Order: sequence, then structure tokens, then C-alpha cells
Amino acid sequence: MYTFEFVRPADSATAVATAAQAKTAQQGADVRFVAGGTTLLDLMKLNVETPARVIDINRLPLDKIEATADGGLKIGATVRNSDLAHYPTVERDYAVLSQALLAGASAQLRNMATTAGNLLQRTRCVYFRDTAMPCNKREPGTGCPAITGANRVLAILGTSEHCIATNPSDMCIAMAALEATIHVQGANGARAIPIGDFHLLPGSTPNRETVLEPGDLVTHVTLPPPVAGSRQLYLKLRDRTSYEFALASSAVVITVAGGRVTRARVALGGIGTKPWRSPEAEAALVGQPIDQANFRNAAEAALRDAKPQSENAFKIELAKRCLTYALQLATA
Ligand SMILES: Cc1cc2nc3c(=O)[nH]c(=O)nc-3n(C[C@H](O)[C@H](O)[C@H](O)COP(=O)(O)OP(=O)(O)OC[C@H]3O[C@@H](n4cnc5c(N)ncnc54)[C@H](O)[C@@H]3O)c2cc1C
Ligand code: SF4
Repeated sequence: MYTFEFVRPADSATAVATAAQAKTAQQGADVRFVAGGTTLLDLMKLNVETPARVIDINRLPLDKIEATADGGLKIGATVRNSDLAHYPTVERDYAVLSQALLAGASAQLRNMATTAGNLLQRTRCVYFRDTAMPCNKREPGTGCPAITGANRVLAILGTSEHCIATNPSDMCIAMAALEATIHVQGANGARAIPIGDFHLLPGSTPNRETVLEPGDLVTHVTLPPPVAGSRQLYLKLRDRTSYEFALASSAVVITVAGGRVTRARVALGGIGTKPWRSPEAEAALVGQPIDQANFRNAAEAALRDAKPQSENAFKIELAKRCLTYALQLATA
């Protein structure tokens, strides 16, 4: 057992100043924020994460959901997943987000899990969570046993020869389709990051999962104003119907006029090393009639670059069917 210091700051400035002492932003960090703890505490118990200092951010004033001046929504970093899913504005105007949140984990976990924690949850790759095994994400340069090992649930898009781990979040897939922006407070001030730029592809540095710098605190997420008349849907396919991560999922925000698609935002989950927005599918949809053949065509475009691993070629067809059916349901 190792010991760590537990700090409970009352304001964001103190939290950021304390965290600025972190050495690295990812694995090996000597300082970690803790929100709901549903990812971090598990990983600490497994010795996968061993921070010397844990900063509890639950007393910071980051737990509000508010309308923004432009008609969008501001979601505090410590807003619980269940509170966000059931917030009336989210249920009405950002239904894909509500659906994605409710498709994740279990009711008890959603009551603890927070917006920022969900954004920063870590992969479920079994080797990452087992310190007896090598893993480039956990210990850079040690290798990736998943490439020749148990990779059924791992990624088929965005992989590299160094890591094929899937981003496990449902919430992030909906946020990608909604074009959310992540707001961060760091030692050098505040900045805003579009969600598409927030998570990194593994490349040769899979230990670096986001653009966060040491000590950066996610303060809130903003959503743009809802798109009038858009139809939204999150469809998640998994080995069992609850309390399970996605094998493939689709978030769709689509607008139709005169039987044709006028605007489409599409993101895929369970198959990418980061939340996978698909501009290819979006381009294939816009201007086309809302029929099965065009939906399938968009799904083919989304998966064109998919690279199966030894155990997960089935995900390519599964993801195509998932997106095709999601589009069908959303426009029905
Ligand atoms: C059994 C189980 C099943 C699950 N199933 C699903 C599922 O089906 N779908 C799904 O999407 N998720 C699932 N999850 C994951 C769950 O959604 C995440 O664990 C949760 O969202 C993390 O939120 P948290 O507040 O508990 O994060 P924490 O554990 O508190 O933190 C997670 C990470 O985020 C960092 N962090 C937290 N807040 C901030 C901040 N404000 N600024 C900077 N860094 C921060 C922490 O340092 C840590 O590295 C499951 C989890 C479990 C345990
Ligand atoms: S896929 Fe990534 S997380 Fe899994 S063993 Fe390989 S390097 Fe580690």
C-alpha cells in the first residue's frame, strides 16, 4: 500500500495552483484531481495510477448547469452524469446527450460520475489495468500486448502500432456530435478547446490522451445553441443491455427538409481510439434523400478506413449497421 496526500481546496484558483506542481499531465502524474472517483479510485486500487497528491474538486463551485448568452448551455465540470441526463433543457434540446449518458454505466455510477471525469475516463483495455503486463499507455516503451492478444473490444479506427485502445465514453460521442467545447483553467490562464481537438490519437505517445497540460482543471463544457428542428439519437450496441461498454455506438444530430438531409452531425463510439466524429458520413448524407441506401452509404464512408484487429473484424459491420439503424430511427 502506498500513501498519498489528500487536499480539498475551496476555490478553483487554489486547485489549479496546487495541481500545477504535477510533473506530467498523463500517467505518472504526481497530482490528480478527483471528482466522482469512479475511474480514478479504481485505478489507484489497481496501482495503475499512483498520485502522490489527490485534489478533491467536489467543493469547487463547478456543479451548475446554466443557459449561455448565445442560447447554448454551460455544464459545470462536477455536474453529475445523472443530473445532466435528466436536466429538462438537455432532455428537450440535447436529447442525444441525455440518451448517451443514460446508456452509460449504472444508475449508482451515474449518480457519482461527473462531466469532466467522464471526459477524462481511461480505457478499459485489460492490459492497461493489469500492472503485471506491459502496456505503452501505462508505461511508454514497454509494448502493446493487445495487438496480438485480447483485442475483441478494442479499436478499429485511429489505432497505431503502439496502441489500439478504445475510448470508452458514451457521453463524449454525443458531445462530439453536438460540437461541444471544453473549458480549461491552467497555470497560464483559461482556454477553450473544441471537443474534436481535446482527445489525441495514440500515435507513438499513447500515454498522452488529451491536450491537457500539467495542472489543467476542466471547469466546464459548453454546448452551442440547439439546431432548430434537428432530430437526435444515440444508439449503443453492447454484449448485454445495461452496465456494459459499447461495442459500437452512434450519435446522430440530423435535420431534414423536403425528404432530404440538410445538416448532419455524426459521431461513433466503441470503435475509435478517441470519440470518433465522421465528417465522411456527414458529407455523404447532406443533400441526399432519407432512405436506407443513403444511410448505408454514409456508414460505408464512416468505416472506410477501419483496420480490424485479430478478434474484432465483426465491429466493422456492427458499426455500419449501428449507424444505418440510428439514422433510420432518427429520421423515422
Ligand atoms: C463498472 C463501470 C462501468 C462503466 N460503464 C460505462 C459506460 O457504459 N459508459 C461510459 O461512458 N462510462 C462508463 N463508465 C465510466 C464512468 O462513466 C466514468 O468512470 C466516470 O464518468 C468518471 O467520472 P468521475 O467523476 O467519477 O471521474 P474521476 O474518477 O473522479 O476522474 C477521472 C479522471 O478525470 C480527472 N478529472 C476529473 N475531473 C477533472 C477536472 N475537472 N479537471 C481535470 N481532470 C479531472 C481525474 O484526475 C481522473 O484522471 C463505467 C465505470 C465503471 C466503474
Ligand atoms: S492497446 Fe493501448 S492500453 Fe491496451 S495494451 Fe496496448 S498500449 Fe496498452
